[in-house]
Amino acid sequence: MIQQLSAEEVAAVTSGKLTTGNRELKISGIVIDSRNILNPQEALFVALKGAKFDGHDFIESAYLQGVRVFLIKKGATERLATLEQIVLIEVSDVHKALQDLAADQRKRFLGPFVAITGSNGKTIVKEWLAQVLSTRFSVAKSPKSYNSQVGVPLSVFGITSQHQVAVMEAGISRSGEMQNLTRILQPQLGILTNIGTAHEEGFDSQGQKLEEKLSLFQNCNFIIYRKDQVEVDAKIQEMYPADKLISWSENAGGDVVFTVKKHTDSSKLLMMKSDLSVATFAVPFTDEASLENIRHVITAAGTLGMEAKDIQKGLDHLKAVDMRLTLKPGINQCLLIDDTYNNDLAGLKLALDFMSAQRPKSRKILILSDLLQVGEKQKVYEEIGQLCSHFQIDCLIGVGKEIIQVEQHFSGQSIFYFSTDELLKKLDSDFFNNDLILITGARSFGFEEIVNRLQQRVHGTSLEINLNSLTHNYNIYKTKLNPKTKLMVMVKAFAYGGGAVEIANHLQQLKADYLAVAYTDEGISLREEGISLPIMVLNPSPESFSHLVKYSLEPVVYSPSFFRHLGSFCQKNQKKLRIHLDLDTGMNRLGFEENQLDELKALIGIYPELIVASMYTHLVGADEEAHIGFSKTQLNQFSKMADRIIDCLGYRPLLHALNSAGISRFPEYQFDMVRLGIGLYGVEVSGIFADQLKSVSTLKTTISQIKTLKKGDTVGYGRKGVMKRDGKIATIAIGYADGFDRRFSNGKGYVLVHGQKASVIGNVCMDMTMVDITGIDANEGDEVVVYGPGISLEELAVAIGTIPYELLTNISARVKRVYYLD
Ligand SMILES: *Cc1c(COP(=O)(O)O)cnc(C)c1O
Repeated sequence: MIQQLSAEEVAAVTSGKLTTGNRELKISGIVIDSRNILNPQEALFVALKGAKFDGHDFIESAYLQGVRVFLIKKGATERLATLEQIVLIEVSDVHKALQDLAADQRKRFLGPFVAITGSNGKTIVKEWLAQVLSTRFSVAKSPKSYNSQVGVPLSVFGITSQHQVAVMEAGISRSGEMQNLTRILQPQLGILTNIGTAHEEGFDSQGQKLEEKLSLFQNCNFIIYRKDQVEVDAKIQEMYPADKLISWSENAGGDVVFTVKKHTDSSKLLMMKSDLSVATFAVPFTDEASLENIRHVITAAGTLGMEAKDIQKGLDHLKAVDMRLTLKPGINQCLLIDDTYNNDLAGLKLALDFMSAQRPKSRKILILSDLLQVGEKQKVYEEIGQLCSHFQIDCLIGVGKEIIQVEQHFSGQSIFYFSTDELLKKLDSDFFNNDLILITGARSFGFEEIVNRLQQRVHGTSLEINLNSLTHNYNIYKTKLNPKTKLMVMVKAFAYGGGAVEIANHLQQLKADYLAVAYTDEGISLREEGISLPIMVLNPSPESFSHLVKYSLEPVVYSPSFFRHLGSFCQKNQKKLRIHLDLDTGMNRLGFEENQLDELKALIGIYPELIVASMYTHLVGADEEAHIGFSKTQLNQFSKMADRIIDCLGYRPLLHALNSAGISRFPEYQFDMVRLGIGLYGVEVSGIFADQLKSVSTLKTTISQIKTLKKGDTVGYGRKGVMKRDGKIATIAIGYADGFDRRFSNGKGYVLVHGQKASVIGNVCMDMTMVDITGIDANEGDEVVVYGPGISLEELAVAIGTIPYELLTNISARVKRVYYLD
């Protein structure tokens, strides 16, 4: 925060009422999550109510950790007033109060304030601009993509009195939200990034969305935008006077005109301003999106008074950055969190938080460089020491000349090196064993090299799992459920190919109610990695009975003989076990049939050791409209069969029937729980709300070689691929052994090279495939997307006569899984 506030001042700013406690108590930081409290003595806990959590439920926990000042909703308090020394500030709307506080802090910041909005590129422009500005100024910026109704206030609280410039982004998801953000940010310089063309949910029209976004700039002195977007240009001129606008363009007519010359992997930009002054810049990329973003950055940096040579200094360190926190398998069973891009306190906190959500390993190791451009060094390193203790870091490896200052504030093991080179020379790989390692450092330290060294080496094909998209899909399904309906998530078959342990761990964070796996050993490996959610096992084998008990896994029981078998095992060993009954209503796979129910009831009487936790049936055709009638018959028969069993149980187990497609199609049959599978992974097989889900996994590989061929040349085994014209092919590093189905041969399948479709030519080989890239500008080493956004798995599956499930689960174990948050 820029300035400390007393409890009384907080009450005044938020129009709240201080109902009890010492009004002089000072706060210097805001906390909204009780799991993550630093410096509790000076913290203000703001009890926000979200979709899933209510901050008021965590007040006692925060109090126990030493927090004394609380901002709460009026009337939510009676039980709290008895806590000794507590200071309660009551307001009628806690969200608004948080925003009031942020607006107040913002006013106290006197330096230039830049706000960025748009549909695409906000985060990149913000990060790059902050980097370029930081060659001259101490810059406060919003961490990651903190741009929402809560993210923006939190970003503002990150500004300190040391900062000279602030760069923040603002994003809105529905109409009316920008007003709040404008009130908080009050920017002097505005940047509108690419506005996109897609219709966005939550807005009546494209025009309305644009108008609302632009309203962020109502008090700006200057607004930077790209003139080549015609609609934007018209709207902005309608809303704002010409002397506020700084437009840039590739054509004459902009206040700033850029000419671009592209080389193989870099570009030159010639910038001409309206006063006819000229400057040139070199940037290390050639793709249109990056070039657009960087021109916003250059224009903004110039407007803030930076000289061309200083701007270029900042650009020299840019890369087409990967800003995501990425989880990667490391050497010696380690797990790496790659955050080599971020280097400020706010980013470090987020990364540490992400780290603490991972499954436990033997040690937590933090590799961290000096923090550049941070203002008051001593305090910052002290805080890093506190963070290390708070997040229970076992070992800190510091790189740089200053980071050693942390040593006196941190009691854990610490090792320091002057440079990345020194670390790489002196630190033995054997030092690391089964550790969780967070690697985070300033760009100039080149920590990529450390990641390279510690990363498990595999071939160039990887499956990237976007955990934010997974969360998004999870939340979408949550909105389809009644508030009481529980959610079981199927993580069988390696979580549909995505990697069971990481995904289960993420689901545990999301507070799923149940997990399900196919086999006992899948359940065991989840338990061994610290997953504590209840786990149902669909098809346990008799040899695994003792493991079911040992690892508290809950088997499905599907026949009288199996019931007897398991029941007598438990009786003999005097163990109780929670089980799930599979009732067959038409699948004719596993499950009790109607005529076996009397026998089942008798067995339930004989073996009270088996506790029926749930009963379910499985729909055979929920994804197809043609089977609606049959599905309903199944659902009704299930109800009847379940009732008969409940009669003799004397207690009520959970009932469940719906898989992903069932959730979409039969919301009235949710019973007590649903079983979500493929939908979580982004595939909506019923097609009912496909457009609401996000693609979760991206299968990527690289081009190994490019060849120029003549019409009539043949490609691959059996001479099956024939060039229809002169052209180019690329050999890509994926084959049927990786799970790229051989049926994709000869044009049935395609991949994306730089966003363009390249069809398979010839037969898919074991480890390689050839694709036709005639007309596509590509180089050896370039990335190729095999499955992912922009490719319909359904379409591909249909082309080769299978279903998306098979494509996902076939991705072989040798393909490295990488998890990230964007
Ligand atoms: C796999 C499975 C599901 C999930 O099916 P999706 O179509 O992937 O949603 C649900 N129930 C049972 C019994 C399953 O085997």
